[in-house]
Amino acid sequence: MGRSHTERLSVAQQRTLERLETLCRTRGQRLTRQRRAVLLTLLTEARALSAYELLARLRPQDGRSTPAGVYRALESLIHAGVVHRLESTRSFILCEHPEAPHAGQLLICRACGQVVEAEDPRVAAATGRLGERLGFALDPGVVELTGVCGRCRLQHSAH
Ligand SMILES: [Zn+2]
Ligand SMILES: [Zn+2]
Repeated sequence: MGRSHTERLSVAQQRTLERLETLCRTRGQRLTRQRRAVLLTLLTEARALSAYELLARLRPQDGRSTPAGVYRALESLIHAGVVHRLESTRSFILCEHPEAPHAGQLLICRACGQVVEAEDPRVAAATGRLGERLGFALDPGVVELTGVCGRCRLQHSAH
């Protein structure tokens, strides 16, 4: 683990990794070997991965990786605000703008797993009003919207 994997990162990815590591530290989440490996995998894959997909990628580099260990690492990274949990696809993705806390929308492509983060205050206001009208106190957090991304739609129509 470590060097050979990190060397494959682009300069931009290296910077992102350093930024995320700093954020975790300042938010009291020490970056253990496992947490760093999970971050690195999410960064290089650049799409949402399930815990088992993560484990399958981590195992060859580190035989000590376990499902429980991966879940603990993910919990810590979610707590640090650098990873989002996608309830609809039971997967995990790096936050695109982890510097500020936010409750926005996640657009998830069910074909390629790409996730786009959006922050449309009108959507947040509309769901708030909807909850109120129906007597719900809605949980804070992101709204997940699944569909097919532009790139996959283009690929599909090209055939
Ligand atoms: Zn985010
Ligand atoms: Zn797609």
